[in-house]
Amino acid sequence: MSEFSSITSFHKALYAGSITCVEKVRSYLDRIQELKHLNAFLEVYEEEALETARRLDERIKSGQKVGSLAGVVIGIKDVICYKGHNVSAASRILEGFTSLYSATAVERLLAADAIIIGNLNCDEFAMGSTNENSAFGPTLNALDNSRVPGGSSGGSAVAVQADLCQVSLGSDTGGSVRQPADFCGIVGLKPTYGRVSRYGLIAYASSFDQIGVFGKDIADVAAILQIIAGPDEFDSTASQKEVPDYQISPAHNKTWNFTYLRDALYHDGLDPEMKDAFIDFFESLVDQDHTVKGSGFDLIDYIVPAYYVLTTAEASSNLSRYDGVKYGHRTQQENLELTDFYKKSRSEGFGKEVKRRILLGSFVLSSGYYDAYYTKAQQVRRLVADKLNQILDQYDAILMPTVPSTAFKLGEKSNDPIAMYLADIYTVLANLVGVPAISVPIGRHSNGMPFGVQIITKKFDEANLLNIAHQLMDRKQVATV
Ligand code: GLN
Repeated sequence: MSEFSSITSFHKALYAGSITCVEKVRSYLDRIQELKHLNAFLEVYEEEALETARRLDERIKSGQKVGSLAGVVIGIKDVICYKGHNVSAASRILEGFTSLYSATAVERLLAADAIIIGNLNCDEFAMGSTNENSAFGPTLNALDNSRVPGGSSGGSAVAVQADLCQVSLGSDTGGSVRQPADFCGIVGLKPTYGRVSRYGLIAYASSFDQIGVFGKDIADVAAILQIIAGPDEFDSTASQKEVPDYQISPAHNKTWNFTYLRDALYHDGLDPEMKDAFIDFFESLVDQDHTVKGSGFDLIDYIVPAYYVLTTAEASSNLSRYDGVKYGHRTQQENLELTDFYKKSRSEGFGKEVKRRILLGSFVLSSGYYDAYYTKAQQVRRLVADKLNQILDQYDAILMPTVPSTAFKLGEKSNDPIAMYLADIYTVLANLVGVPAISVPIGRHSNGMPFGVQIITKKFDEANLLNIAHQLMDRKQVATV
């Protein structure tokens, strides 16, 4: 639907006077209404978005200076705080809770004159791969309503896929931006750990979490990263490193030195048709004068277990703050002892998957098992990081599938958590190591669903990552709904 496929083309029209911000917002609002059944938005800030658009139009008309994202319509995942707006992490336990401050990423978008149009559905506390763990029902994949959009940032992916907004923010702890981007046929970027401040992002696993960006156009994603990246006095894990210029140069056609991980490409879990497509894809890159060589990565089967031990451990600690006293849901049952009150409030407020992870995390941190699980997983994390960084020192980028299959059918994996976890095999790697990664559409399966290639570079090498993505992406495969 989108008349203007990128921020640049929208801005051209806006500054030429052929469209206004109000018109742009209205067209998204109509579209959101029309595609309500997708359940992408939890809340739409209709009046507020129109009012911001009106004010922007006046400023533009009177020749005042406006920010680099003027009038760009953005949706945010419901784990990102926006002052005065509800934030629930798609959980009953935060029912009715209003953000007391805005995430740094949100502050920066607003300062650049972006328009935030609403908050987006996701898996509860960003735990999941299908969006089926949301307390507010699943989001549907707009290309095939019988399929999931992926998760946990399913709403953020569908909002962009179905043109309900220009770009959106998600969070990526183990693939939650790249995997739904892959399932929906769009672009999803997870920046380097520490590139974007986590201040105001509801914590799942703090040493993995990173805010990421969805778009249909690499230059759009780069423009958003440009604004939200950088040091932040409210997050000591946000890097002090200067933010380089992420602008994509369209003429920028370089030959690159790529590698793929043999143990990933020839893994039993990968859909055979996708494997063949990747082999063809790598050959086509060689035909275009890039180098593509295989690297060994025999730690591949350890990364999902290490990820689930470490993230559940961190989650069990992070989620202990939801005790029925400080935030959101509180049990109505009276005359309870304090411990029973906590138990009851938490049992009522959290969904099944979140409970499973809190239990798992408490177990791996318990005194008798700490060394066998938590310490061991930390050691695996170190080995994996050393190995991956060593490979990245020799090549410009690693290329691999984002997910081993295309989008699941609704319900297909919801009763089999292990199968669901194993499907994270290709995405958790970048979070374990902290490197940036992006998924861009490159193909279509015979079942009609899109799939992407995942590109991984060294830490803080987003400028190259985005330029490589721009070169490799198959624009014909970007979803049109
Ligand atoms: N699917 C992964 C999980 O359930 C990823 C989640 C995420 O990145 N937030 O943990």
